[in-house]
Amino acid sequence: MDAHNRRTFLKCAGAAAVGAGLSERIAAEETHADPGGKGTRELRVRIETPAGPLVSRTFAILKDRIEQRCPVRVTEADTGAQLLLTMDDRLSPDAFRIDVTDEAVRVSGGSPRGLLYGVGKFLRTSQYGERFECSAWRGTSVPQGSLRGMYFATHFHNWYHQASAPEISRYMEDLALWGVNAVMVIFPMINLQDWDDPQAEPAMAMVRLYARTAKDLGLQFATGVGNTMFIGAPKAIRATPLPDPTHRRGNSGHPICPSNPDGHAYLMDNTRRLFERLSDIGLDILVHWPYDEGGCACEKCMPWGSNGYLKLSRDLTELGRSYFPNLKAVMSTWMFDTPPEGEWQGLSDALARENGWLDYILADAHEDYPRYPLDVGVPGKLPLLNFPEISMWGNWPWGGFGAHPLPGRFQRLWDQVKQAVQGGFPYSEGIYEDMNKAVVAQFYWDRERSARSTLEEYIGYEFGAGVTEDVLAVIDILENSASCSQRKQPVDAEAVRRASQLAEAVDTRLPAWARQNWRWEILRLRAVLDRGRFAGDGLETPEAEAAMVRLIEIYHCQMETDDPYHHRVRPPLKRAVSRKGEC
Ligand SMILES: [Zn+2]
Repeated sequence: MDAHNRRTFLKCAGAAAVGAGLSERIAAEETHADPGGKGTRELRVRIETPAGPLVSRTFAILKDRIEQRCPVRVTEADTGAQLLLTMDDRLSPDAFRIDVTDEAVRVSGGSPRGLLYGVGKFLRTSQYGERFECSAWRGTSVPQGSLRGMYFATHFHNWYHQASAPEISRYMEDLALWGVNAVMVIFPMINLQDWDDPQAEPAMAMVRLYARTAKDLGLQFATGVGNTMFIGAPKAIRATPLPDPTHRRGNSGHPICPSNPDGHAYLMDNTRRLFERLSDIGLDILVHWPYDEGGCACEKCMPWGSNGYLKLSRDLTELGRSYFPNLKAVMSTWMFDTPPEGEWQGLSDALARENGWLDYILADAHEDYPRYPLDVGVPGKLPLLNFPEISMWGNWPWGGFGAHPLPGRFQRLWDQVKQAVQGGFPYSEGIYEDMNKAVVAQFYWDRERSARSTLEEYIGYEFGAGVTEDVLAVIDILENSASCSQRKQPVDAEAVRRASQLAEAVDTRLPAWARQNWRWEILRLRAVLDRGRFAGDGLETPEAEAAMVRLIEIYHCQMETDDPYHHRVRPPLKRAVSRKGEC
């Protein structure tokens, strides 16, 4: 982050953190003997709405997160409740309100999902000590972005690939508490020979696990399709390779030409088989993807983005709606006009004639946001999404040195598009950029909420009271180091040492639950490893090696692997082995 952006990040105080009626702090009444104390040792909760599965799940999440943080029992009770959970159909479905009645704090949702979001706000703004203090936040909160997604890249034996079902479920709950309403996972045809590949069933089982977990939480499930399919696709139907003079589009995988009738039939048939395998769980959103994996440069398909791709996307959407009638279609424009060949304009012209089958246009780039939709307008006048890359920038291996917060970068990128976009799908390679997820999810919820304000809430909730300023200072230094490293500029070694000292000082002040929280561990370990990398001790000290071993455990990495890409997501411990692939 350059000096200007860093100042902006530090200056943007949490003005939006608190809604209406911010001054009222409720110290919930003690229900048992402990008069005069602030807070409570038993939180009695009354559920005032028919307890469907998501409401019951929401109560279970509330109970779990509070009891994890303080020695308090959370019980369901009809009388003497200090917290009410209810529904109010005057609120829009995803909205919530937190207010106070004569007797208790009340969280109301416009639907069970809105209640879950309200409980997220309640949890993050409550106080956790020897006693529990109910949130003092008061107000009504309505999300501005309609599609607040997250894309999990489930590959390379990264965390998403390796985590157990309960871990995935818990992590998705945590993201839902921040306002996420859609999760995208892709079936990796690019790595498989065909449906009979021995890896096909495990890969499908993983997609189905993510889909089921999302749906159980009331979240939408999304998947991606395009013209890249199995490795074993017949040679005769393969696409014509793309011109890629800027090396940004890629020619990954085995794309098929949809203008070839046999190619079209192959694409439709395999997509149909994918839909069939999701038909019992459900699919809410279909994301069409043009490049990197995809594209065809034949005469009949060119220009791909506004011709062959557009027609195929429409055909696949129609097919999808025969299985899932309410399926929403998102058309990505990733790397359109790289090089310029009129794709944006061609798409605009085509969608001006007919856009009824599409719900969203998605755009983004490796760096700054594409100008066309901002300057000229979104093709078809459709709602616009973004696709921020929150995992890889300034960071190699991805997550290899621990937490990777980039609040200044994402604030800067968000400021370019915040008046234009209705949400998006951040691209995620793992849990190490959890802070970036919270920041972006809250941008989607409230476009004026600053990254800093979100991080203040995150730190208070995940690490406890009294450390916010110090942790923000550490994050600022970590981001600055990552930015210098990305730009091949010298890193400020003195600042790196200061971040490490600050992190160690914070560590001694944390309550046990926070010190054991993996979110704190990965942040502290990043400070340790940055000191090793940038301030002279190196990465082969016992301390640095121990830090990497611990990260390997947290990410469920393999110490010995046959996966040729695992090194991209594994901390660079010298004794870790990759039998194939690059080191
Ligand atoms: Zn073609």
